[in-house]
Amino acid sequence: KGDSKDYDSETESVCPFCGVGCKVSLKVKDGKVKYVEGINGPANEGRLCVKGRFGFDYIHHPHRLTKPLIRREDAPAKGLNVDPGDLSTHFREASWEEAMDLAATKLKALREEDPRSVAGFGSAKCTNEEAYLFQKFIRQGFRHNNVDHCTRLCHASSVAALIENVGSGAVTATFNEIVNADVAIIIGSNPIENHPVAATYFKQFAKRGGKLIVMDPRGVGMRKFADEMLQFRPGADVSMLNAIMNVIVEEELYDSQYIHRWTENWEAEKEHLRQFTPEAMAPICGIEPEQLRRVARTFANAKAGLIFWGMGVSQHIHGTDNSRCLISLALMTGNVGKPGAGLHPLRGQNNVQGASDAGLIPMFLPDYQSVMDDSIRAKFNSVWEDDRDFSNEKGLTVTEIIDQAYAGNIKGMYIQGENPAMSDPDADHARAALANLDLMIVQDIFLTETANYADIILPASALYEKNGTVSNTNRQVQRVRPAVAPPGEAREDWAITVELGQRIGLNWDYTDVSQVFNEMKQTMASLDNITWERLETETITYPSLHETDPGQAIVFGDGFPRAEGRAKFTPASVIPPDEAPDEEYPMIATTGRQLEHWHTGSMTRRSLVLDAVEPEANCSMNPRTLKLMGVEPGEMVRLTTRRGSIDIMVRADRAIAEDMVFIPFAYVEAAANILTNPAIDPYGKIPEFKFSAIRVEKIEDA
Ligand code: SF4
Repeated sequence: KGDSKDYDSETESVCPFCGVGCKVSLKVKDGKVKYVEGINGPANEGRLCVKGRFGFDYIHHPHRLTKPLIRREDAPAKGLNVDPGDLSTHFREASWEEAMDLAATKLKALREEDPRSVAGFGSAKCTNEEAYLFQKFIRQGFRHNNVDHCTRLCHASSVAALIENVGSGAVTATFNEIVNADVAIIIGSNPIENHPVAATYFKQFAKRGGKLIVMDPRGVGMRKFADEMLQFRPGADVSMLNAIMNVIVEEELYDSQYIHRWTENWEAEKEHLRQFTPEAMAPICGIEPEQLRRVARTFANAKAGLIFWGMGVSQHIHGTDNSRCLISLALMTGNVGKPGAGLHPLRGQNNVQGASDAGLIPMFLPDYQSVMDDSIRAKFNSVWEDDRDFSNEKGLTVTEIIDQAYAGNIKGMYIQGENPAMSDPDADHARAALANLDLMIVQDIFLTETANYADIILPASALYEKNGTVSNTNRQVQRVRPAVAPPGEAREDWAITVELGQRIGLNWDYTDVSQVFNEMKQTMASLDNITWERLETETITYPSLHETDPGQAIVFGDGFPRAEGRAKFTPASVIPPDEAPDEEYPMIATTGRQLEHWHTGSMTRRSLVLDAVEPEANCSMNPRTLKLMGVEPGEMVRLTTRRGSIDIMVRADRAIAEDMVFIPFAYVEAAANILTNPAIDPYGKIPEFKFSAIRVEKIEDA
């Protein structure tokens, strides 16, 4: 950081990493971002974590894509085999004209043959407008709904449960509402590493005497601030939560008035819960009955309670059931729709909330409007000035599209800013599927692992180079603005999609991204009273009730967007993880992120500071287990599951249970997702990243 004279210009934008959505001021000198400061956004009040403060320099990395690229005819067979410092062995540079013409010609040829042979992955790292355009590109351009993005891999099951039972897929209260809470549960989430600025609010809550209950199979960092730490058995969420709710039922600690006024299906839920006594569930979840009772009483007796959850809840084959339990717990205690209370799945990517809201999902159009509803599709066709209809069938999800590509039924993909070669479960299978495509168009800022398999690469923009809006985990819509120009010939993503759309025959005439925002407003009630002009100076939390309303931090105090305004209890039963440990694979693997690296590492591993702090692929195990194996921390181990094997350095961490391994998924040289189980939750279609049976071996000659 320099002094106030040490930069040429400053621009306000939003951090490109996590869903907290911290507002930043970018100080620019000589056409480059020199440093970043946190400013007073509603979600961060000037705070930033290490990624936001120091992780900006990836945008100036020498490996940025600056020209369109076309795969050479004499390139080696598709694989993860391109040297990022020398792309010329596989690709040749092309003009935008040639690359776009080729992309459009090939897309049209596939469409002619079979429109369903084309699918798209949009991006939660792009803006709302870019997400909206991307889903429209597939729906209007190919007349079906085979378009998805990485929400499928993070909170799809949470969204499925929320829409089913509450009527909306977004949070019911901002995380900042914790200032008004008496008690908060954080389950399956490690906010100190994954939502660090939100974690500062949680720590302050605990320090001022709020009751903090942390539930996680890993002894995550928040345990230091917790009144209760429930380190339950991996995959045993439902048994633990049902036991807590059983106590609330048996001791009649529930809020009868709230249940009567605002919910349905209570009697069925109550009866269902009677079998889940703490004594019966303790051996399954590993938590003592007395602690289950204590937690139940603490939460039920509080005036206001919040529930936060992360991917430890959602990334299971029973992820939707896990979320159903959390929703039921909040409803039976009357903890939705009042200050300090609510349900808050902590969203991962900076714009995964916005991308989902904008319809980048195969079953929903923008604002979660069903693709199966004729009148809704008619509304969109009318706004799109298109007299043709598109499919009324739900489209394929991320993992289904990969499976269909593997089988040869999907032949062409347009992938914007996503990295399935690293992020999808059973990564070798995903990579084989990508290699099997006849046409793969990748639009990105780096030659990602996925772009290794591309036929055409379109150089795009980083968030600090683009204009638009993003929506954070709090439902807060914020403007992003370009601080610097994209390098070389790279372009903003929305502009690339628009030109490609025009070239495949769409009636698109956008010349400014604000036109896209204004079109979104015609179909998305959530944007009522939110205007491009207001967003010039304001952050607005949707819903905004009138043109000067900064928005509603808490929703559903006066009923739910469901039949008769009532939320619903959906009973959940105990379903074991898909893959039980056995003699061959006796331990349990779970995957996740680290503080310094974001998702597949495409940005943070190209950031000098972040990569210097955390440069090497690593996993963590309990020191006792390592001792029994005769492995010293820092040595290499071999991790093997039914999908594959990686060699990786191991660290000792007492927070990890003795039969568990934690593996971050940011490292291509030891890609965690080579190991993960692709089994999916039947409702959210989310893979079980949080539980794979695994074998760990010492590498004798390491
Ligand atoms: Fe960026 Fe999230 Fe860190 Fe805020 S908490 S600075 S949004 S990574």
